[in-house]
Amino acid sequence: MTDCLFCKMVAGEIQPDVVYENEQVLAFRDLNPQAPTHVLVIPKKHIATLNDLQGEDTALAGALFHAAKEVARIDNIAERGYRTVVNCNAEAGQTVFHLHLHVLGGRPMGWPPG
Ligand code: 5GP
Ligand code: ZN
Repeated sequence: MTDCLFCKMVAGEIQPDVVYENEQVLAFRDLNPQAPTHVLVIPKKHIATLNDLQGEDTALAGALFHAAKEVARIDNIAERGYRTVVNCNAEAGQTVFHLHLHVLGGRPMGWPPG
């Protein structure tokens, strides 16, 4: 998708602050962090929302969580705790329509989320 912000990051047209990368996923720091650690983990393949995840993407979905775990290890928040969030569509507040897993940590988290 040429007009997708996160696809431009995958293509190297925009250079985010990368924390972790492998063949399937890219993880980079959020521009507007909501916690000391706020990293977005994205599939390199364009998938607009969680609703668009197909059966063939099951391994890719697992790769997102595996990368989230690696991010937590890299930022040294794995033991104290962290949160992963996927916002899907308008009511959840999704603003970028390329699937992404937020990894948030480094401060206490409230529940329920807003
Ligand atoms: P959403 O609201 O769709 O779940 O999350 C989108 C996230 O992307 C937001 O947390 C927002 O701060 C982040 N974001 C938007 N534009 C950019 C950008 O250009 N660079 C980075 N690193 N993050 C961005
Ligand atoms: Zn995209």
